[in-house]
Amino acid sequence: MPLTTSLEMLREARAGGYAVGAFNAENMEMVQAILAAADEASSPVMIQTTPGTLGYAPPAVFLAIAREAAAARRIPAAMHLDHGDSLESVSRALRAGYTSIMIDGSREPLDGNIGLTRAAVDFCAACGVPVEGELGRVGGKEDDADMGESGYTDPREAEIFVAGTGVSFLAVGVGTAHGVYVKEPRLDLPLIKTLRERLPVPLVLHGGSGLADDVIRECVRLGISKVNFATELRMAYTGAVRKFMAEDPGAFDPKSFGKAGRAAVKALVSEKIRLLGSEGKARREGARKEWAWRKEMRRGRWKARREPRIRRRKPPRLEGRVSRWWRPAYCTARATSATRTSPSPSRAGARRSSASARRASAARTCPGPTRGRPGSSLSSWATSSPAW
Ligand SMILES: [Zn+2]
Repeated sequence: MPLTTSLEMLREARAGGYAVGAFNAENMEMVQAILAAADEASSPVMIQTTPGTLGYAPPAVFLAIAREAAAARRIPAAMHLDHGDSLESVSRALRAGYTSIMIDGSREPLDGNIGLTRAAVDFCAACGVPVEGELGRVGGKEDDADMGESGYTDPREAEIFVAGTGVSFLAVGVGTAHGVYVKEPRLDLPLIKTLRERLPVPLVLHGGSGLADDVIRECVRLGISKVNFATELRMAYTGAVRKFMAEDPGAFDPKSFGKAGRAAVKALVSEKIRLLGSEGKARREGARKEWAWRKEMRRGRWKARREPRIRRRKPPRLEGRVSRWWRPAYCTARATSATRTSPSPSRAGARRSSASARRASAARTCPGPTRGRPGSSLSSWATSSPAW
């Protein structure tokens, strides 16, 4: 199947009381292993890469691998940017074709986090791609990034954050951390239940590696809909390669130890999928899509192979000026409301003048980069604007 967005699969997970696994991939073998395990278990799945991984190989490379590997499977799979740290990294992933995005502004104070996340949501809305935000820091170490101490999400702040940004999912701080746990984490499990009741969006648990199975099961039962696993997968892959090389020090074909690493990752992902309860959950959606696909084929529209939920519009360029056809959603909203309140002699007259009024109003209210202003970029504007 083509790659899908993460929106539907996480909404279904929230409604069904299970969680979807989001697994970090570092190379082609890991992408293949994740998809093979999910396909075997008939489970929806998310493959994700951090900005650190995308420094190793560009997003287009990972996307191409995932797209081709997913095409041979019959499960919904999304390609997700994990811990996007700026609008530039979001833009790179979107332009490559990622179908799910995370923007992590949790290091900022609440206002700054809302500003950055809102800008990313507006940005991704142009392509119909859902966005995950983070509030209440998940500490520890992810790749080279030191995320400091873990914090806990305040439910009241979370309500403000979700309403103010329009995020599709929220990563919450409940005491977990990235990397390897050096001491027993102090999890606030009742907080998950509170957040689940007070927030309308699926909740995401980061730092799933190293948590006891019972703890993860309890987190899912209380309302977590997506669990991230990175460190354990890296350790499984490297451990298998190391073992292979120890047993056969003369091996020189990367395919030989790559297969060993791939098998280890696949076994681990299968285990995690069973733990999260998403086994067999792809069937319903898979069948529905298969049916829609066959219907398309019967109608002779065989060229319409594109995933219907993702609007394949080209995302806007960040560098330089904002192109004429794209403006952040809130600019349009303001322009529309301004048009509605402006006095006009008749409805027809208002309709006739609405286009020009919207253009003029958007130009007035949009604090976007102006042509010729030196050093202006969407990111500097978006993070500094106090409009929200
Ligand atoms: Zn994380």
